[in-house]
Amino acid sequence: MKNLIDTHFHLDHYRNYLEVAAKITELKQYTICVTNSPGVFLSCQRMIPETQYLKFAIGYHPQDRDLSNQDLYDFMRLIDRTDYIGEIGLDFSKSSYMSKSQQVRCFETIVERCTGDNKLMTLHIRNAETEAITILRKYVPKKVIIHWFTGSEKHMAELMDMGCYFSINSNMVVGRNSKKYILIPKEKVLIESDGPYTKVAGKKYTPESLLQSYNSISQFYGNPNLIANVFENFKNILSR
Ligand SMILES: [Zn+2]
Repeated sequence: MKNLIDTHFHLDHYRNYLEVAAKITELKQYTICVTNSPGVFLSCQRMIPETQYLKFAIGYHPQDRDLSNQDLYDFMRLIDRTDYIGEIGLDFSKSSYMSKSQQVRCFETIVERCTGDNKLMTLHIRNAETEAITILRKYVPKKVIIHWFTGSEKHMAELMDMGCYFSINSNMVVGRNSKKYILIPKEKVLIESDGPYTKVAGKKYTPESLLQSYNSISQFYGNPNLIANVFENFKNILSR
């Protein structure tokens, strides 16, 4: 059996992060641990040893209103310490977040740089699909994963046409809104836990339940070969 892959996980949001990190490596689950700011990324890399299975991504989260120009500067300065970028994106769902214009400016700066360096990005987009698509069209990055997509089918199709991958979690495949995800071709599906913000069998996500997440998503897609497919898709996105 191929290793499980989790392309979007918030390790630093667990109080027992050292234990959780050890578990990920013990289970041999390739995991991209996203962060919400360059400062957090740096502390994570200093405090938690990376392994073959556990890698940190550098982030600049649009919901974090405390991020400043200095943070963007730090982001650019630290970017070469990792091949993985996230969580970054645009979120226009609440006025309490960074202003729209500031979000767009930072996101565009980051996408331009990451496209040039061909880094893998995991994107958060909420109520800002049009603006995000405009920026992605301008720079045409090759390694983009849309994390927990919540927009329309039309925007989903546009992102698929641009070659984006979609990371699916256990919460996305239940309920009324799940139907549209069936339209994602199996070559573009990746799996994320978005732990600790998802539940598996009614319990807060931990790495021990990644296989269970895969099982519920493989049922949703009627795809018994999901693990091997995701392994192949991840290999493909990395080689783009
Ligand atoms: Zn997240």
